[in-house]
Amino acid sequence: MTHIPEPAWFPIALRLDDVRVLVIGGGMIAANKVRLLLAHRAKVAVVAGRLDAEMQAWAEDGTITHVASTADATTLRAAMPGCRLVYAATDDRAVNRTAAALAQEMNIPVCAVDDPQPSTFITPAQIHRGLVRIAISTGGAAPVLARRLREQVESTIPDGTGELAVFMQQQREHVGAACPDISRRRQVWETFLDGAGAQAARRGDGARARAILDDIIAVTGTRGEVWLVGAGPGDPDLLTLRALHLMQNADCVLYDQLLSPALLDRVRRDAELVFVGKRRNKHTMPQEEINAELVRRARMGQRVLRLKGGDPFVFGRGGEEIEALMDSAIPFQVVPGITAANGCAAYAGIPLTHRDCAQACMFVTGHARADGTLHLPWDSMARPGQTVVIYMGVSALPALCAQLMAHGLPADWPAAIVERGTRVDQRVLTGTLGALARQAAEAGVGSPALIIVGEVVRHRVISPE
Ligand code: SAH
Repeated sequence: MTHIPEPAWFPIALRLDDVRVLVIGGGMIAANKVRLLLAHRAKVAVVAGRLDAEMQAWAEDGTITHVASTADATTLRAAMPGCRLVYAATDDRAVNRTAAALAQEMNIPVCAVDDPQPSTFITPAQIHRGLVRIAISTGGAAPVLARRLREQVESTIPDGTGELAVFMQQQREHVGAACPDISRRRQVWETFLDGAGAQAARRGDGARARAILDDIIAVTGTRGEVWLVGAGPGDPDLLTLRALHLMQNADCVLYDQLLSPALLDRVRRDAELVFVGKRRNKHTMPQEEINAELVRRARMGQRVLRLKGGDPFVFGRGGEEIEALMDSAIPFQVVPGITAANGCAAYAGIPLTHRDCAQACMFVTGHARADGTLHLPWDSMARPGQTVVIYMGVSALPALCAQLMAHGLPADWPAAIVERGTRVDQRVLTGTLGALARQAAEAGVGSPALIIVGEVVRHRVISPE
């Protein structure tokens, strides 16, 4: 497929009060633009040999200025200076293009209607709800798609959104004075929008909305909170709706090594991102410091998102973090995530408890102690009829396989390793306890990777293309 570069239209909103705009053309296409421009209080001049009835009426009562002439170069050169925008809106593409070239020569933004190529700006489709404007555009590439999107968006905007915006505008100064701190102010509005206050404002009940707003101001920001959230194994589509919602609302986000950039992209743009990454034997911030940092920020009144790979309670030290919060009386919530075992198994096509061969599934950590030794319940791990999933086991893989064999599993017992599971560059190796360590070393498997041991590996299924 040939590569089509994306059109480089940059959306902005212009204020048109008393701005001079030149429209070329006197027919229906031009009238549509003129109507829109007048609604925005622009001063419109129209160059056209003759005008349709509606435009004629505007010209006669002085709503627009009519330059009665064909759109020849001399006329346009005389009419353009002093105009801030030009619409070339005749039904003749060649005339529009000539006009567009002239406007460009004079450095005036120009829109040739239905012809993006010579245009330097376009007018997107709009949804109006009072002060609220939503503009939708495909850069002229697919008008029907733009219209469809507009219908979809329109249907999701609650009634009264215009009234709500007006209420918020009226209260800005009040809220600003009551909450000089910007993050607290934002929090007040977020809480307001989520509750009965916004509903009252939508109904036009300003007094009730204001009373609720004042209640919110009184309680907001006095106490921060912490959200301990599992972000899943990497594919952003595996985030829960709740995780996404909190990612959009946090004041700051403390994240570590396991978080893929694709996930961090989903965090609100102006949230503070704090890397507290942990790597094996290379702790950027010790756990106690992370705990203390969560407490410190919450005490400042922040809404702190502690974002963790997978699930926070599966080898995530989430338990220690909430204990620290409990001790400091900081309110918190925990949001589960898809743990690596689930994500990797699903994306690798390995059914963790296939009924033919596994009645149990065990999650184990392969993280060695400081002295390099592994203390694991080998006897209960080395049993048939179950699946053993090993987290943090890449460095100890040779020892893990050797121990499982030493405790009774045969060398041809199936085993797999899933590297960067659910991510675009996921790799899966399948083999046996006897061979997996060598295979992984040869393939250069690195962290994060998950080891799956058991006959379920033989039931691996890959979708047909
Ligand atoms: N709380 C996390 C686990 C943290 S421990 C969870 O629930 O998934 C870190 C280990 O998780 C890694 O060493 C690796 O074994 C595993 N892991 C996490 N994400 C992974 C991924 N995308 N692919 C493979 N393994 C992963």
